[in-house]
Amino acid sequence: MPNEIENRLASYALKSSKSLGRVHNEDPPNLRSEFQRDRERIIHSTAFRRLEYKTQVFVNHEGDMYRTRLTHTIEVAQISRAVARALKINEDLTEAISLAHDLGHTPFGHAGQDILNKCMKEFGGFEHNIQSLRIIDKLENQYANFPGINLCFETREGILKRCSLSLAKKLGSVGNRFIEKKNPSLEAQLTNICDEIAYNNHDIQDGIKAKKIFIEQLEDLPIFYDQMSEVLAKYPRLSKSKIVSETVRKIINMLVNDVIKNSNEEIKKENISTSEDVRNCKKTLICFSDEIKRLNIELKKFLYKNLYMHPDVVVMTNRANVIIKDLFLAYNNDLNLISEEYCAHNIDKINLGHKERVICDYIAGMTDRFAQQEHQRLFK
Ligand code: MG
Repeated sequence: MPNEIENRLASYALKSSKSLGRVHNEDPPNLRSEFQRDRERIIHSTAFRRLEYKTQVFVNHEGDMYRTRLTHTIEVAQISRAVARALKINEDLTEAISLAHDLGHTPFGHAGQDILNKCMKEFGGFEHNIQSLRIIDKLENQYANFPGINLCFETREGILKRCSLSLAKKLGSVGNRFIEKKNPSLEAQLTNICDEIAYNNHDIQDGIKAKKIFIEQLEDLPIFYDQMSEVLAKYPRLSKSKIVSETVRKIINMLVNDVIKNSNEEIKKENISTSEDVRNCKKTLICFSDEIKRLNIELKKFLYKNLYMHPDVVVMTNRANVIIKDLFLAYNNDLNLISEEYCAHNIDKINLGHKERVICDYIAGMTDRFAQQEHQRLFK
């Protein structure tokens, strides 16, 4: 049955029956496709559950109504699934990549990543995207026969959005596309653009709710103003919060429709008929039209300047720097401060001289609140 569904997909969709397989061989599932199994393994992972208490923009304890890394991930999966179905590409693979795309995020969002990267400068650095792959390949610890969750090549490759050439050489086949300068699958390209659609729009909603940005400022952006005008023409007496949510709905709808239409056109224009054609194509095929791209960049710039660099958000960034740097130095100074069970599990890596990486994995895996509790415990 799973293959029957895949038979209805476009010729350029990635089919699980053509998968390059898993690092550790396993019997095929009988009721599900290989990519469905990947999706379900991601949902059952520890790293996935921890996303609930990790920052998207606002630190987890700042309010219960804001997006967390988990709700962001679910929104990305929802949007990308809908677009995948419309484009007749593999919905299960798209969903698996979407659900795993942020697994490697540290506590406190990008601020956490940047400071952890600085702490790890002499020891190979840190990047959340690489960490997502490390989690699914090595760090998840619940299966009898292998480390990690042993996902299919296509899911792993899709998760690895960017990678330096030097690192790509060390990653084996999953890093090859960076060396060969090839495109990722349509399913991976789609996850990238849906990530952007999701965060730009939910950050508008959360930013307004948190009173960091205001409708009056957003009115200067054509992408917001035009959609809001249509909402107000239809519902002149709407409350402010409903104006925002109706406008955001319309923007998402417009972006999604644009991606579907434009990507279909690009696929046709480039004569794409197989997933190999996608890999060899010099262009990204899942993309906005030029006009929408321009409007979207304007929105991103607005959010960067007015929300992500807002003084209150920067305070959180500075606090994250202190917490993560303090924890890294404290653990590096005395490994006994880390959970005994975790150290015992990683004793071989520690003995081989990878103590800093073991500490980095420990900190990267923390939720916002655990990092804060640890900091209080060690530095009260
Ligand atoms: Mg994301």
